Amino acid sequence: MKIVDIRATTVAVPLEAPLRHSNGAHWGRFIRTIVEVEADNGLVGLGEMGGGGESAEAAFRALVPYLKDHDPFQLETLRFKIANPTASLYNNRTQLLAAVEFACIDLMGQQLGVPACDLLGGRVRDAVPFASYLFFRYPSERHAEIRTPGQLVEHARALKRQHGFTVHKLKGGVFPPDYELECYRALADAFPGDRLRYDPNAVLSLAEGLRFGRAIEGLDNDYLEDPVWGLEGLRAVREQVRVPLATNTVVVNFEQLASNVLRRAADVVLLDTTFWGGIRPCVKAAGVCETFQLGVAVHSSGELGIQLATMLHLGAVLPNLTYAADAHYHQLRDDVIQGGRLAYAGGAIPVPTGPGLGVRLDPDRVARYAELYRELGGYPYDRDPGRPGWYAQVPNERFADPAVSAES
Ligand SMILES: [Mg+2]
Repeated sequence: MKIVDIRATTVAVPLEAPLRHSNGAHWGRFIRTIVEVEADNGLVGLGEMGGGGESAEAAFRALVPYLKDHDPFQLETLRFKIANPTASLYNNRTQLLAAVEFACIDLMGQQLGVPACDLLGGRVRDAVPFASYLFFRYPSERHAEIRTPGQLVEHARALKRQHGFTVHKLKGGVFPPDYELECYRALADAFPGDRLRYDPNAVLSLAEGLRFGRAIEGLDNDYLEDPVWGLEGLRAVREQVRVPLATNTVVVNFEQLASNVLRRAADVVLLDTTFWGGIRPCVKAAGVCETFQLGVAVHSSGELGIQLATMLHLGAVLPNLTYAADAHYHQLRDDVIQGGRLAYAGGAIPVPTGPGLGVRLDPDRVARYAELYRELGGYPYDRDPGRPGWYAQVPNERFADPAVSAES
């Protein structure tokens, strides 16, 4: 089997409502690049990358001369052809590599008639549990805003009823820490027996991170995720707080993982199939974590069904995945895959059983959301539509005012 072409299409898929986070917001849609890698036998492997537009599409087209006639089964040489570690200092293609790796694994599975997880060690579970990913949200034409502890709890209750979640993750760093602590405690009170995690995307000062961490010590925490920036910051919090610390920001490659093994800063590593350059690097990293008794979770960088499938196949093969995975997926209104969004059952999503990644594109949906992208374009992830002129600093001192309703 040989690669003959690589195509990329940018899509905009609507969210239920704009999602607020510490660096800005998702303005009501996700922008993703859908990648199709065509082989000489007519099979098409699927990949996905965050963001999009002309430059992203051109970046994928520019890989064709590098990868024409490449055998999709040759995943190690794929890495060195487009993302060797020293050349990557000049042209970092990690995220492109990831999308192409997904597509190659999809091609391998289709060619052999086996699901991707069977190429990655074989499944140890048939479904991957997910956390409810809770955001403060601006209102949309469908939903009221989510700003107060009461609104947040109602939102979590609705998601739990609909999807069966028993783990809840609060994306914070939007409002002052004391206010978000009140929100977190409200979740703990509302869902006794469920587990919680808090992630302010590293914007707390060390003092605030310590204060927040100590204040939640008695709750059913999975972990405190990136309360402050940096391995040294996390280490300082970890020394003084009795809650496991997790990161998806400063352990995203093997060098950083080695540092974290030698001088532990985070107890749990959230693996991201894009940040790490593919599914296989995540499997390798999980092996290192297993040896050194680091916890493993699955990070979400805002996925459609193709990326979600990579997370499901990854989750299927990791014996040491003892935490529910993260996904923004339930915040989406639709997907680009046949049948629309994959469904949660009991807080988990079944691992696809079809060949390869086990999901196929729905051409009508792709056309619809490619058109929506042309109509609406992208959005600045690191700006907040409700606070013109504002931008994030780390540590943040200029949080949003929780007394200000976006609906007034
Ligand atoms: Mg995070």
